[in-house]
Amino acid sequence: MKLYKIKKSNIDNRGLYASQNIKEGTKIIEYKGKVITKKKSEEDSKFDNDKAIYLFNLNKRYDLDGDFKFNEARLINHSCNPNCEVFGTGLKVWVYAIRDIKKNEELSYDYGFSFDKDYKDYPCKCSSKNCIGYIVREGSRWRVKKLNYIKK
Ligand SMILES: [Zn+2]
Repeated sequence: MKLYKIKKSNIDNRGLYASQNIKEGTKIIEYKGKVITKKKSEEDSKFDNDKAIYLFNLNKRYDLDGDFKFNEARLINHSCNPNCEVFGTGLKVWVYAIRDIKKNEELSYDYGFSFDKDYKDYPCKCSSKNCIGYIVREGSRWRVKKLNYIKK
């Protein structure tokens, strides 16, 4: 039985929701895609955008392009307080629970966007208590906070 279901999301468009209680550390869904060489991801204009959110680094030579309809994991939204993480083992990429997740909770992970001048183009609507309002990876969120502080 699948551990998730696709539903209209409170965060953005559609999302994935836990169909049952899920324990921390559980593999929830494979992040499916096509393995491509780094050479291709560097040369193909499809990946020009820095925010290539469906592109995962597998190793020194290969990336995984998850920008396909059959990859249901691409519907998972970003959150400033995520309950999942995505990482690869070999040439496969999995979405794992990083804490216990209750049935009907929306699944989310940190998209890992770096902080740059166009961060305002990517608003975050995760509505978690610590939401900073933009999709920026955890390690860079202090930069957004600092800017907001200076403006006051
Ligand atoms: Zn947020």
